[in-house]
This record gives sequence, structure tokens and C-alpha cells, in this order.
Amino acid sequence: MVNLVWFRNDLRVEDNAVLKAALDTNHPVVGVYCFDPKHFEKDNWGFVKTEKYRAQFLIETVTNLRENLGKHNIPLYVYHDSPDTSIPALVEQLNIQTIFCQKEWTEEESAIQDAVKHKVQVKWIELYDQFLFHPDDIPFDSSQEIPQIFTQFRKKCEKLVNVRPVSMISETQEWETPIKNRTTIPTLEDLGLQSLTRDRRSAFPWKGGSDSARARLNSYFWETQKLAYYKKTRNGLVGVDYSSKFSPWLANGSISARQIYWEVKRFEKEVKKNQDTYWLIFELIWRDYFKYVSLKHGNAIFFQGGILEKEYDWHHNQAALRDWIDGKTPYDFVNANMIELRETGWMSNRGRQNVASYWAKELKQDWRIGAAYFESMLLDYDVHSNYGNWMYNA
Ligand code: FAD
Repeated sequence: MVNLVWFRNDLRVEDNAVLKAALDTNHPVVGVYCFDPKHFEKDNWGFVKTEKYRAQFLIETVTNLRENLGKHNIPLYVYHDSPDTSIPALVEQLNIQTIFCQKEWTEEESAIQDAVKHKVQVKWIELYDQFLFHPDDIPFDSSQEIPQIFTQFRKKCEKLVNVRPVSMISETQEWETPIKNRTTIPTLEDLGLQSLTRDRRSAFPWKGGSDSARARLNSYFWETQKLAYYKKTRNGLVGVDYSSKFSPWLANGSISARQIYWEVKRFEKEVKKNQDTYWLIFELIWRDYFKYVSLKHGNAIFFQGGILEKEYDWHHNQAALRDWIDGKTPYDFVNANMIELRETGWMSNRGRQNVASYWAKELKQDWRIGAAYFESMLLDYDVHSNYGNWMYNA
């Protein structure tokens, strides 16, 4: 009986409930990751769904995941192919009985999983593992009861939910796979993307992967203790340390929200507890909230009228789009932020709020086009945070 862990947006070994559940069965475990060609195609608006910045970050992340799994003698099979082709083949070759994966609910993520399910006869174990407050622990009977107002959600969760402890795996499995793992990790070129030159001024100069996430956490919390000033600096625009920069690692799951939460708690005990240390947790709750909003409202987060079904007079002007993307609007502030995004894949939170307001509120251009451009370019693209923030802003 072999277990397969299908890694998607949970690309870590530490504090990975899905991997731990697979290992706890005491059956051999193998992992798989698919660079799905669909993620590198053009979307309906003409943007490549994953541009070079996030693609490179993902390549680095999967490389690091494979190394870290290797320390436990868990092979990671990596394919540049659709999951509904690679996974059924692997299931047959290794006689896999159970597939473990993180539970997803958004349309594209569910569709690909359904396509795999259609082709394999295995047991599925799907676990929510992308939240700070676990869905089984929140003080609402179902996701349908999630309040429309963030503060109500936050206050009730803060009062009544205990964040689960982080989980570790210690074992190194003895089992050897009968088929040698000869799969390779694709390059940017393999994915059909341009090569990357990093701008040395980037506010996000780090690599993908859990090791790099851990190093950033150590630096921001323990070496420089910038966490102790976070609330005062978090709305900054330029530089590496005005905010935590955890979002790209959180988005693909190379670090978990729980790991960050418990490290803040340790900092509060050992160094300092203040408004600033609390505020990082406050922001992680925003991240959870957008996930719960999407869980409650499903595809409505992608609709033009959003979850409130608002009707506005939206436009779609190609010249305005070019000017916005290229930083040629009448506003230097909008331009600077848009150029930063185009050249580095990063933009500060304050920048994002402003360029989104300019696009949707001042130009009255369809907010979904702006969201799709962000999806293409952002290093930290996360379906719930991106569409949630755009919808909220628009
Ligand atoms: P910090 O200020 O250090 O915050 C710590 C963590 O809290 C972040 O890493 C993030 O996980 C979470 N967080 C902070 N602010 C928000 C927020 N407003 N919404 C949700 N989570 C938050 N964030 C993404 O992770 N992915 C996206 O695709 C994304 N798209 C956005 C689009 C728009 C139009 C706007 C206005 C915001 C978007 N955000 C998105 C939220 C926010 O801008 C980024 O999370 C933040 O700038 C990341 O920087 P940081 O890690 O240094 O944040």
C-alpha cells in the first residue's frame, strides 16, 4: 500500500498536515508535483497566467521541497504535464492506494482535481491546511455563517479559537521506490517563459523555498527584530524591511501561517510584546478572512458584480490598460508602483491599494482585468487574497 502526497500550494515539509497524515499511516509515501502547462498559458484577457517572476520562484520552491523531502527519503516526482495525465500514470506504476492532498475549493483548482479523480480508483484524503484558524475550529457553524464584516469575524475568532500547534515529522522512511525517480524540474525556458534578470533594487530579493522563508523569518524577527516596529513601518513603499515580505512563501505554502503565528508568540515571550507584534497576526487574520469569504461565496469572487452583486458601469479600454501597465498614467505615484511590479513582480500593499483604486474607481475599468494582470505578475499571487482584495477595493 503506497500513499501519494499531491503537493499543490502546500510546498513544505515542516508543519504540513497532509504529509504528516500520509506518514502516520505507516505506509510508504511518495510525493508528486505537476507544473501544469495550463498555468503558463494566456488567460481570457491575454496575460500569461504565471509570468516569469512567480514561475522562477516556484522552480526554486519545488527544488528546495525535493531536497527537504529527500532528507526523509521521500521521493518527489516532478512533471511538466497536466495532473490528470501524470498522476494516473504514477498511480498505476507504483500501485498507489491513497492520495493525500490539501483541500482546495476554487473553480480551476477543483476542476483539475475532479479530472484526476475521474481517472483513478483510489481513496482520497483531503485536508484544509492553508488557514491560521482551522475550519473545524472556527465559531461559526458553517462557512455560510462567515460575517460580511471582517471585524466581527476577527473578534470572535480571536476570542474563541486556539491556533493549532505546528507539527513536525521526524521519521526517515526505509522504503525504496521500485521505479527510480528520473523526473526533472523544468526551467523557465521549458515553461515557455523569458529568462529572468533580477533588478538589484527589488524589495523582494529572496529565493523560493522553505529554507529561504525560514531565513527571512529569522532575520526579520530575531536578527534585526524589525517585528517590534512592524505596525509603524508596514505601509512603507521602498526597501526590504518595511514589512515582513512573507506573502510569496505563504502563497505557495512553503511556510504556514501557523509557523509564523507561533514564532510571533515566542518573540512576544522572549523579546517584546506590543501593538506591532500583534499587528502581524492581525494581517494574517485578513489573509484567513479572504479565504473564508471565498469558501462562503464560491465563484462570486470572480464575478464582475462581486459578492454584493453590485452593478456599475465598467469599461474596457485597451489604451488605458497599456498606459496603466507601462506606468504612463498622469500620476507618478501610480506609475512608479506599476513599473516596480513589471520589473520585479513585487508591489507594496499601499501601492496595490492605490493602483487598484486608480484602475477601478478613477478610470472605471473592469476590476477583473486589473486582478488578472496582478495574477500574472505577482510573486505572491494567491487566488483568495488577490480577487478578494480587488473586489473589496473596487
Ligand atoms: P505584511 O504587511 O508583512 O503582512 C503579513 C502577511 O499578512 C502577508 O504576508 C499576507 O499573507 C497577510 N496580509 C497582509 N495584508 C493582507 C491583505 N490586505 N489581504 C490578505 N492578506 C494580507 N496578498 C497576497 O498574498 N497575494 C495576492 O495576490 C494579493 N493581491 C492583492 C491585491 C490587491 C489589489 C491588494 C490591495 C492587496 C493584495 N494582497 C495580496 C494583500 C497585501 O498587499 C499583501 O499580502 C502584502 O502586501 C504582502 O506583503 P508582506 O508579506 O510584506 O505583508
